[in-house]
Amino acid sequence: MTEEMARGYVREVPLYINGEFSDAEARSRFATLNPSCNAPITTVAEGTEADVDRAVKAARAAFVAGSWARMPGAERATYLRRIADLMLEDQEALSLLETLDTGIPIAQTRGQVARAAENFRFFADMAQHMTGETYPVEGRYLNYSILQPVGVAGLITPWNTPLMLECWKIAPCLAAGNSAVLKPAEWSPLTADRLAAIIDRAGLPPGVFNVVHGYGETAGAALVAHPDVRLISFTGETETGREIMRNGAQTLKRFSMELGGKSPVIVFADADLDQALDAVLFGMFTLNGERCTAGSRVLVEASVARDFEERLQARIAAIRTGDPFSPQTELGPLIHPEHLARVLGYLEIARQEGATISVGGRRPPGFPVGNFLEGTLLSGVKPGMRVEQEEIFGPVLALLSFADEEGAIRIANDVRYGLASYIWTRDLGRAHNVAAEMEAGMVWVNSPNVRDLRTPFGGSKDSGIGREGGHYSFEFYCESKSVQVALRPPAIPMVGRIEP
Ligand code: NAD
Repeated sequence: MTEEMARGYVREVPLYINGEFSDAEARSRFATLNPSCNAPITTVAEGTEADVDRAVKAARAAFVAGSWARMPGAERATYLRRIADLMLEDQEALSLLETLDTGIPIAQTRGQVARAAENFRFFADMAQHMTGETYPVEGRYLNYSILQPVGVAGLITPWNTPLMLECWKIAPCLAAGNSAVLKPAEWSPLTADRLAAIIDRAGLPPGVFNVVHGYGETAGAALVAHPDVRLISFTGETETGREIMRNGAQTLKRFSMELGGKSPVIVFADADLDQALDAVLFGMFTLNGERCTAGSRVLVEASVARDFEERLQARIAAIRTGDPFSPQTELGPLIHPEHLARVLGYLEIARQEGATISVGGRRPPGFPVGNFLEGTLLSGVKPGMRVEQEEIFGPVLALLSFADEEGAIRIANDVRYGLASYIWTRDLGRAHNVAAEMEAGMVWVNSPNVRDLRTPFGGSKDSGIGREGGHYSFEFYCESKSVQVALRPPAIPMVGRIEP
């Protein structure tokens, strides 16, 4: 796999509105950069309010027309399965473009495309089995609930693992019968465009799925403010989430918020330390460290802390950093020079706070340009330091130690985020007890970050609002309507009785 092969799939990126690829009304364009050298890859149509309005109108018209929204779930499912098939047929192009646009190593983007496609299959199955509940009331009433699509959904996604996160939203949104307007992240638009072409080929009614590229403050904000958009599913930074909720309050949107994280990994001395080590490296340094659920704070019990640190140092120093198109590469360049500068800024903060950069912290040799950074370990981190509290979102791991279970729980929870937690111990009782204490939406015990699509995904505290995945996605993407039917003439208190 080479960069040249990826370039063969690049085109000037248009918007996709009402089943047609078009330029933005203002005709303006922006460049997307190659993270390996920061040269422009291509240009992208820059959607603004007028384009968002056009897309929302198309989505609304499609919804009202009903050819998708009222289509039987089993029939919608056939379209979703077709999308999954087409994605897998196009796996090479999608993974090459994703690697070119984001710098995520090719060995990892391949798996991501397969996972993205799996979302369409999974929610196709669910669309067929969408069901409500019944509440028989002592033979007098039959009450039941039905799930119905809500209308137009605005889907706003970040640049880390863009295709997978987009599909994660698009698949349940469409499976439930809604129409969608996707606003992909401006730093990683290429696979969203390729996906639009795939969805176009799958033959969905025009307007059901639309893509408006553009900046968050303009295209994204216009989508959030649009009165005909009923749902906003957002994944991104916590501060952006706040801004979106403020802007959507006026039109009373329903929000799903998947936000930032600073997830702890607690390693007890009795754990399988080999497995814990492998999981820490996998969770922190794959996807270039740009993973919302990264275990970015490792808390190790004091009695094994020194040994664990030495083993971590050796393994992090051995991470293969470099050309994301090389199948051996484990860590590629970060998405954008601005993001690299932000991550490097945290290394400076770490030094000022008295932590030690015990591995990495530099540009790898042989890569004078691009957003490369070696896998980095911050040793001697103390609770409360900014590098222990704030999301860095790069290949930078903070290492702390703890004296006892209570201390571990306190350090783990003493952050504003609450997305994921990881616990390593052979003591079954302790594993369950500590899991219950974690202020986090998701806890993995003796396990790397693997997730079944049926389980609820989401965070607590500043990491988000709501859950997606499995039937939780339908709770967000559907109206749950309750219908009450009297089975025999009920006794109705008479109001306004006319006396004879
Ligand atoms: P971001 O918040 O900067 O941008 C995300 C999206 O929001 C982009 O499409 C952007 O254009 C748009 N946006 C920005 N301002 C907007 C506004 N005012 N109105 C509407 N849209 C706007 O996030 P990012 O830097 O692209 O992504 C990284 C962040 O995403 C990290 O904090 C990471 O933890 C988080 N994330 C969370 C999850 C999760 O599931 N919890 C998953 C992946 C990433």
